[in-house]
Amino acid sequence: MHELPVTEQIIKVVLEHARKADAHRVVQVNLVIGDLTSFVDESIQFYFDFLARGTEAEGAALHIRRMPARVRCHACQHEFAPDGVDWRCPRCGNLGGEVLSGRESYIESIEVE
Ligand SMILES: [Zn+2]
Repeated sequence: MHELPVTEQIIKVVLEHARKADAHRVVQVNLVIGDLTSFVDESIQFYFDFLARGTEAEGAALHIRRMPARVRCHACQHEFAPDGVDWRCPRCGNLGGEVLSGRESYIESIEVE
């Protein structure tokens, strides 16, 4: 359910952009979603289609690029991709670290015509 407010925000930005560009319709919206967010692509797509109805964004293709998680170990500075819930550093065995990527969710680009 938490995809709803995020998708509302996306639609808002997309429509603002479309109006500024004086566009007839939005062709494609490219999103970047981090793997550490719990957002489900299908849910975003569902809300997008629902909220876009009757706007310039109706029928726009939604493209979601997934950003894999990257973590830097606090102990040895090694950067690694956590394997699911296993956040142990593969080099030194320390648990956890600083998240470098994977928590983002933003609009990369919007194509209008
Ligand atoms: Zn380490």
